[in-house]
Amino acid sequence: MKLVMSFNPDPEVEGKDACIFAFKGEQILVIEAEGSYRIPRRSELESLQLTGIREHYLGVLDTAPCYAVDLDTGADIPDGFCFTGLRDLFEHLGEGLFSAAGYAFQILHWDRMHQFCGKCGAPAEYAYAERAKVCTECRAVYYPRISPAVIVAVKKGSQLLLARNKQRKHKFYSVLAGFVEPGETLEECVKREVREETGIKVKNIRYFASQPWPFPNALMIGFTADYAGGEIREDGREIADAGWFTPENLPRVPGPISIARKLIDAFLEEQKDTS
Ligand SMILES: [Zn+2]
Repeated sequence: MKLVMSFNPDPEVEGKDACIFAFKGEQILVIEAEGSYRIPRRSELESLQLTGIREHYLGVLDTAPCYAVDLDTGADIPDGFCFTGLRDLFEHLGEGLFSAAGYAFQILHWDRMHQFCGKCGAPAEYAYAERAKVCTECRAVYYPRISPAVIVAVKKGSQLLLARNKQRKHKFYSVLAGFVEPGETLEECVKREVREETGIKVKNIRYFASQPWPFPNALMIGFTADYAGGEIREDGREIADAGWFTPENLPRVPGPISIARKLIDAFLEEQKDTS
């Protein structure tokens, strides 16, 4: 089940009970039942007296219209409902709902961050015909921001390059990633990030897949690459530890759904086929 995005409400589903992706800060409102979560319908929220500050139409999921709602930070909720982090939805909701919730969060985050014009400071208002905000004075236009980042699985024979980040709370190893700089191609970014973070040179860079990553607005663009030279030398800033790992000595890796894990799983599959 995947959200079909659109800016304008679809008349075919109008009047149907909508899915509400309601956020208080970075936390999303869910209904908790028997240890699992689900996204509430509008009819289930009507009696709660939650105050929505902003609302955006997102599109259609299955046959239900979907909305992103930004709640008042004072919002109080009864038993059966709870607020949870987006990352926790991974295991509970599956990929379709996680990506719809991530989209909702990105739209709300953009709206919150563009209450005023960054150029002249005047209030910004919604554009009429597209998802954008426009300055009421100088007419500067602000679209939802997306920050492209590359993520790459570097292979050396039957080994995969994995690294542990210094700042991450969860102590797992993952493939390398980094934000694209202005003026840089994706391939150049792959080479630079791997070199900067680990001292390794790569070749044969091939596209793998992409994934929106709503923390808060990255688009992860996945690649595979082959080792081309160099010895591992951690950068000491972002990377705490890096190493070459075989399927037999794999450390703790990220959870399912993330493209990082998909890259690692693809490597493991490939090794199975060749062994
Ligand atoms: Zn302005």
